[in-house]
Amino acid sequence: MSKAITNAMTVDVEDYFQVSAFAKHYPHSRWDSQPLRVEKNTQRLLSLFNKHQIKATFFTLSWVAERCPNLIKEIVAQGHELASHGHWHQRVSELSPQEFKQDLYRSKSILEQVSGVEVMGYRAPSFSIGDENFWAFEIIRELGFRYSSSTYPIKHDHYGVPQWPRFSYQVIDELIEIPVTTLKRYCKTWPIAGGGYFRLAPYQLSRWALKQFHLQEQRAAVFYVHPWELDPQQPRTCGVGYKTRFRHYLNLDKVEQRLGCLLTDFNWSTMKNVYQTDLQLIK
Ligand SMILES: [Zn+2]
Repeated sequence: MSKAITNAMTVDVEDYFQVSAFAKHYPHSRWDSQPLRVEKNTQRLLSLFNKHQIKATFFTLSWVAERCPNLIKEIVAQGHELASHGHWHQRVSELSPQEFKQDLYRSKSILEQVSGVEVMGYRAPSFSIGDENFWAFEIIRELGFRYSSSTYPIKHDHYGVPQWPRFSYQVIDELIEIPVTTLKRYCKTWPIAGGGYFRLAPYQLSRWALKQFHLQEQRAAVFYVHPWELDPQQPRTCGVGYKTRFRHYLNLDKVEQRLGCLLTDFNWSTMKNVYQTDLQLIK
């Protein structure tokens, strides 16, 4: 049953010091002096995907692309989809329309220049598009993207648009929004698509949730993972609160093995492949 549906596997390519929760601890001026671990960790994901013969979409920070051009070339050479995660990993909700446009333009240009391929997908850092910055979709379209995967229809203290659609839809003319997957169960909407939730729950629960989602909705799911989630040895950031520490460092030593199970138990491909029909129907 679950094997009959092909889901979208996505990676947000950023390093441990670039996550939104650590933004205060690592201002942009300090990024270049941090040991870069994203290249090695993304290689581990590439090996895992290669072993399971699956293709994925890599929403990549162009800041990383500037420093690791060979990694970007390898992602493309192995048949994966390259997409944008912005340049400076700033929440869109904290930017003016002009600042957002500059960041996104820069990101798309660098990624396309380094890779030599067209970038058609974008994911906002920390799923930071909502009612207050709906204008962002106009800018995403204007810059030539064809889809966005920037919303998470759940309640969360840092992001989430619980009232917004849960499945891919044309959000404005010529642009599709593809939300990250949630499960409706027990009168609630549950996040089941990766990140901290995948590290918190035992694998059996994640697998059950995804199977339930398929039974209920008969649709593809969108899953996401970060390269730093496969790196238990990453440097510990001092002075962060308990909640952030718990969320960021929990079960980092379990992700690679769990992801391997997930790749075995379900079918996966890129966003571009899974949503090919939606993208063709775009008006
Ligand atoms: Zn991110």
